[in-house]
Amino acid sequence: MSASVDDRVNLLGLPRAELEAFVAARFGAKPFRARQLLHWIHRRGASGFQEMTDLAKGFRAELEAAATIAVPQIVASRSSSDGTRKWLLRMDETQGIETVFIPEPGRGTLCISSQVGCAMDCGFCATAVQGFNRNLSAAEIVGQVWLARHELAAAAAAAGEVPQPITNVVFMGMGEPLANYRNVLPAMRILLDDLAYDLSRRRVTLSTSGLVPQIYRLAEDCNVALAVSLHAPNDALRDQLVPINRKHPIAELLAACWHYLERQNGRSVTFEYVMLDRVNDQPEHARQLARLLRGRPAKLNLIPFNPFAGTRFTRSPDAAILAFRDILNDMGVIATIRRTRGDDIDAACGQLAGRVRDRVLVRLGTKLGRTPAEAIP
Ligand code: SAH
Repeated sequence: MSASVDDRVNLLGLPRAELEAFVAARFGAKPFRARQLLHWIHRRGASGFQEMTDLAKGFRAELEAAATIAVPQIVASRSSSDGTRKWLLRMDETQGIETVFIPEPGRGTLCISSQVGCAMDCGFCATAVQGFNRNLSAAEIVGQVWLARHELAAAAAAAGEVPQPITNVVFMGMGEPLANYRNVLPAMRILLDDLAYDLSRRRVTLSTSGLVPQIYRLAEDCNVALAVSLHAPNDALRDQLVPINRKHPIAELLAACWHYLERQNGRSVTFEYVMLDRVNDQPEHARQLARLLRGRPAKLNLIPFNPFAGTRFTRSPDAAILAFRDILNDMGVIATIRRTRGDDIDAACGQLAGRVRDRVLVRLGTKLGRTPAEAIP
């Protein structure tokens, strides 16, 4: 690889308006050129300009000089016994991010990352342990969807099957999406664009630990489903579990959620609640939670805690989770239990850590004629 920095623009991260501005400014091209590009890149999965046969040869050459379609590199990929797939994508020499595909009857959910690491410091989350490294660019966020589609199609072709579709995208991988607002917003626009991934606004979900000012901003900018990591029914406990609560307490957070729904004409907010044994799973917690949310456009998603190396928490027993759900339902709050998927490959909620193991090992793997993916157990 050459040492010079590639200053070509990565088109993967440009939503329609920016792509139109780009082709106009660089080539004096009409907006429909941008629409063609969107379609080729995202819908047809083109990775180069030469395959875009309905673009003039001269234009393709100009594009090649000024732009790229650069997708992240896969370092490792794993499949769970339940069909869940996880890809570790290289972001730099030692750091990666993880993207997870969860197939279900009639739908396929892709869980994408928005940052390398995370700065929110929630004690029960594996991503928090690695700290914050950097924000992903819009191209790196969309690149995960591009790549997953590509990989699912390749796997299906090899097996002579129909590819599993990605019907839903959730920002529930590594990172706090609202802390990377600048890049998450254009990425969401591309996911929603009918010429690109054409996902409906109910099938793109942004999950946040509770960055209140950005929830108000999002209410003005984009229409997607909102999920909020609540995890505690009172400020004293939430201050401990989700430190951002010390800055934006529960009442403020809920007010922002209701505002968001009103502004976006949304149906409900999904509140995520990780079930931690004897920490937040007592009947009194369920009753407090029900008093907080009943009569509101809210759904609760109870997530059995997924352990990771070094954590001090344990998962609530099944009986406690069921009892918790029943109290909520009896008090008029819709609560469901999230089925754990992909935990045998550390792909379940809160287990994504994205470490690209020792790069020497990766190089060695390549030298020995194996792919880097095989070099990493
Ligand atoms: N930062 C965003 C996006 C991450 S979403 C957010 O906090 O919402 C990942 C979801 O999994 C969040 O609800 C998170 O709280 C939850 N989670 C984190 N660690 C977990 C663990 N170990 N077990 C189960 N769920 C966990």
